[in-house]
Amino acid sequence: MNIKIAKWKDDALSPVIFMVDDIANIVIKQSDSNELQIGEDWGHYGREKNSMWDFLSKNLLDKFPKIKTTLFLVTDKRAPMALGEEHSYNKSIVEDKKFIEFLNYLHQHKNVELAYHGTTHGKAGIKHEDFLQEWETFDSLEKGLEEIARGKELFKQAVGSYPTGGKYCGYQEGDFGPESIAKSNFKWWAYHWDGIIWDKNAKDSRYNYDVEFNQGVVDIPTTVDASTLSLRIFKRVFTRKYLKSLYLYIKERKTIERHIESLYQNRQVIAIQEHSSPFRTDGKIQYPNIVSDIDNLNYIFTLLSKKDVWYATCDEVANYFINRSNIKISIEGENSFKLLSKRLTEAEITITIENNLKQYGLFDHNSQLISEFKAKNNILYLTNNFNINFLYYIKVI
Ligand SMILES: [Zn+2]
Repeated sequence: MNIKIAKWKDDALSPVIFMVDDIANIVIKQSDSNELQIGEDWGHYGREKNSMWDFLSKNLLDKFPKIKTTLFLVTDKRAPMALGEEHSYNKSIVEDKKFIEFLNYLHQHKNVELAYHGTTHGKAGIKHEDFLQEWETFDSLEKGLEEIARGKELFKQAVGSYPTGGKYCGYQEGDFGPESIAKSNFKWWAYHWDGIIWDKNAKDSRYNYDVEFNQGVVDIPTTVDASTLSLRIFKRVFTRKYLKSLYLYIKERKTIERHIESLYQNRQVIAIQEHSSPFRTDGKIQYPNIVSDIDNLNYIFTLLSKKDVWYATCDEVANYFINRSNIKISIEGENSFKLLSKRLTEAEITITIENNLKQYGLFDHNSQLISEFKAKNNILYLTNNFNINFLYYIKVI
């Protein structure tokens, strides 16, 4: 019997992760109106009307309830883009009881993961171009480790546990990036903007669309910029972003649809990138952002809803990858096997066998049925939390 370990859970072709950066206890008012306007909130308003979460839920997440979202949280008072600029409201995540309650709501939400995104996000300079991203401000590994430890404590103070992963601010790793992450006990990290391979034809070998280890930490790729508009989003025709998409199509025949299809066919990670708000302290619109991109996001998730994908958080993808990387199948008899591992005692994993039109089940050594295989084209698959070094049987049922 040809038993294999599936690349992804339930033998899906690709994992789909929805990543939203820069959740913070921040508001940037754009008008004098007392009422909150869509886009002004970065998280401070929790679940109130027109808040970041209210907008995102009503306009996307409620329509696609399978989506799993990883939110990247700025933990302390964030720096403005340039000295002298101010957010309308800007506090650390532990300052307001209401915001802490909101974070706990998210933390307990089964489709949401809260992840780490620094303390201040960096340091403002005289001009916007002088802004130093947080990891660029670390002038020694020790300073970096101290600041990460401080941010992780704020995170724990708010939700009761440490983040298992996160992302550099502005994808800038500074001089001590990977080492600071490995030594801070993160399980996973989003190290790079890997979509640059598609967007700018970048050839640097650090960029790739698959999961790998970096000093023992799982490197989760970031692959799709959700502000890259489909040419079918006619509402945005003649905007700068639409013209960029048109240019990419005319010059290189690139479309976001083809990019996603290629990731899918190659069983790579479809990790969709967003920001919590369009507004920055310098008055510029930042892209991508959930408000400007909402039609495009709906379009992308409609495309994905017709595919065999696994909606997952970064943490879930990291767990699967760690399990897959650390176990081997040992065939023991004609219809029996064990999973072997030097590091694990149990592992949730998907196994596959070829489909020969019979019904199969997984049994333990007492002939107790554990679970039935499910069929998908020419493959039968089964996801189970396996004990390592236990004898399992596969039999016709
Ligand atoms: Zn950020």
